[in-house]
Amino acid sequence: MILVCPSHVKDALKLIYIPHIQTVPEAGVGTRCEFCRNRAKYKLFNYSQQRKHIKQVI
Ligand SMILES: [Zn+2]
Repeated sequence: MILVCPSHVKDALKLIYIPHIQTVPEAGVGTRCEFCRNRAKYKLFNYSQQRKHIKQVI
């Protein structure tokens, strides 16, 4: 999972295979962009990793 600000969404998309994006809620203060350490607005994650994690939980 990668947290990014609006100006680094494109850079983050290049790093993830089958990317999915969620906006970070305003309550997520302290979340920082992985590239520039500015306030993050988007969370990018890999769907297959997410599925693996769910399988382990079950
Ligand atoms: Zn950034």
